[in-house]
Amino acid sequence: MGVTVARRPRIYLSPPHLSGEEEKYVREALSTNWVAPLGPHVDAFEREFAITVGSPYALAVSSGTAGLHLALIEAGVGPGDEVLVSTLTFAASVNPICYLGARPVFVDSEPLSWNMDPDLLQEELDKRAREGRLPKAVIVVHLYGQSADLDPIAAACANYEIPLIEDAAEALGSTYKGRSPGTVGLAGVYSFNGNKIITTSGGGMLVSASEVLVQHARKLATQARDPAPHYEHSEIGYNYRMSNILAGIGRAQLRVLHDRVQARRRNFEYYRRALADLAGLSFQPEAPWGQHTRWLTCVLIEPDEFGVDRETVRQALELENIESRPVWKPMHMQPVFRDCPRVRGEVAESLFRHGLCLPSGSNLTESDLCRVVDAIRRCARR
Ligand SMILES: *Cc1c(COP(=O)(O)O)cnc(C)c1O
Repeated sequence: MGVTVARRPRIYLSPPHLSGEEEKYVREALSTNWVAPLGPHVDAFEREFAITVGSPYALAVSSGTAGLHLALIEAGVGPGDEVLVSTLTFAASVNPICYLGARPVFVDSEPLSWNMDPDLLQEELDKRAREGRLPKAVIVVHLYGQSADLDPIAAACANYEIPLIEDAAEALGSTYKGRSPGTVGLAGVYSFNGNKIITTSGGGMLVSASEVLVQHARKLATQARDPAPHYEHSEIGYNYRMSNILAGIGRAQLRVLHDRVQARRRNFEYYRRALADLAGLSFQPEAPWGQHTRWLTCVLIEPDEFGVDRETVRQALELENIESRPVWKPMHMQPVFRDCPRVRGEVAESLFRHGLCLPSGSNLTESDLCRVVDAIRRCARR
């Protein structure tokens, strides 16, 4: 029997934050017996979401990963193809490439936004064009609530007529020159997983300016049923639609998106002010092309100046019952993607080595933020 130490409540990295209105929508779905299939909340959620991000068409799906899978199919990706993708990301950006028997090629980040480096992409496409082995698609990821530099990325792709898919799973609510990232490429994908800026407990959205694309993706996501009274199929389908109950949660969440962005930006401002004087600690920059939602506040820790390294800080926070996470481990460093080609990768490696994501939930209290700050300050130059 050890001594029981009273632990303070756990502070999570990015927990769900309900608005209180979700129940009303869910109750409506239950009381009308519309728990399945699809239903009016799904249609309304798609409509409302499309308006929010400024895209003509939207398709609610069971996850962001499913949305990316469908987007890649619509881009024509198949066995033996190559797809260029940001190396600094979550595995879900890459796995659907492999579902299709295609091969990912990882592209390094630039230091300003931490997203795909447009110059590297351009150089790689030019080189591949000369060699006659252009990729079938490009997936750009918008990390931690901030858009990549989309104009040069989209131009590089357009130059060679390569479809651009945007993984905007982490970037709902952010802007790029006034637009929503996710609406610039051929298709964009968002996630409503439990840790994202709004959640349906699990789910995603595919958007596109192409009505044909979204209609076909809708068919594939619904077991690829051809129009007929019996079950008729002329292609392989998936069970990727969102349920009417979850869409109800999504509608309530969408209404508070703006508040959630403001709350996360306030967290960032709090951290920035409270930690600004610490040598060797810096924040993910906000690039000049748009608004960062600060879905996660990420810091870089230079051990020589700060006194200890990223991992020591993470463990110190854990001892205080505070959850933090290293910045994504680049995909080119992952055992499963060991044999995949890559275009550089040093920037992403350095961001992984030094980067830490701090608790960033929109429901953090000032005393939570204070606890995190105190714990970090105790690590500095100790
Ligand atoms: C969360 C996430 C996804 C996957 O979304 P799910 O809804 O969890 O399938 C894809 N890409 C990135 C960058 C993500 O953060």
